Amino acid sequence: MILMLLYALVGAAVGSFLNVVIDRVPAGQSVLHPASRCPACNRQLTPRDLIPVISYLALRGRCRNCGAAIPLRVVLVEALTALLFALLWRHYGPGARLLLATFWSSLLFALLVIDLEQRIVPNVVVLPAIAVALAAVPLQGLLLEPIYGHYGLLQLLLGPAVPLTPRGLAMLSQVLGGAIAFGIFLLIWLVAPKAMGAGDVKLAALVGLLTGLPGALAAVFGSFLLGGVVGVVLLVSGVAGRKTAIPFAPFLVITTFWVMLYVDALVLWYIGRLFG
Ligand SMILES: [Zn+2]
Repeated sequence: MILMLLYALVGAAVGSFLNVVIDRVPAGQSVLHPASRCPACNRQLTPRDLIPVISYLALRGRCRNCGAAIPLRVVLVEALTALLFALLWRHYGPGARLLLATFWSSLLFALLVIDLEQRIVPNVVVLPAIAVALAAVPLQGLLLEPIYGHYGLLQLLLGPAVPLTPRGLAMLSQVLGGAIAFGIFLLIWLVAPKAMGAGDVKLAALVGLLTGLPGALAAVFGSFLLGGVVGVVLLVSGVAGRKTAIPFAPFLVITTFWVMLYVDALVLWYIGRLFG
C-alpha cells in the first residue's frame, strides 16, 4: 500500500513531465530545453514550483510571480497520471511488466491530452512509438515471463493443430492485434476520411500492437461504442453541433487502458466458465 502510494507520487512527477511534452512536442520544441517558464511573465519556474499538485494547490492555481492563472489541465494531468500509476501498480505489482505498462500508458495518456486540446495525433510521437512497439514484440517475448490472458482465446481459436509456446502465442497475438486494428481504422479512413483522422489510424496500429489479439478488438470496438455514446450526449446536450469534429484518440486510449487492466481477468473468468 505504501509502495503503491510512492509509485503514485512518481506518477505525479511523470505527469508534470507529460505536461511539458503536451505543451512542446506538437510544436516541435525540445522537452528538455529551456526550463519551464510561466507563459504570462516568462519567469523561470523554480524546483518548488515544479512539485506536482501540491504547488498548484498551494498557489491556488496562479503563478507565484505575476498571478496569471495556470491552466487546470496542468494539475489534472498530474493527478490523473498519479492515479494511473497506482492502478498499474495494483494490477502488475513490481517488475518488468509494470515498467513496460507504465511507459506505454504514459505515452498514450500524453497522446490523449494532445488530441483533446489540439485535435492531432502528432507523427513525431506516434511513428517512433509504433517502431518501438514492433521492435519490442520479440524483446517482450524474451524478457517477460509470459502469462496467459486474453491470448488464451487466440489459442482456442487456432486449435491444437497450431501448437505455440506461450511466448510464441503472445508475439503472434501482438502482431495480429496491430495489423487488424490498423486494418479496421484504415478501412474507415478510406471510406469516410472526414470521420477519422490519419493520426487515429496510426494510433490504432500502436494500440493493437500493445494490447494484442483478441484484446485489441475489445479496445477498437469499445472505442466506437464509447465515442458513439459521448458523441450523442454532446449533440443532445448542445455542447457539440453536427459539424463539430470530436477528437477520437481519447476514446481509443481509454478503452486501451480498460483492456490492459481488466480484459485478462474477464477472459480468464470466461474460459474458466467454459471449461470449469
Ligand atoms: Zn507568471
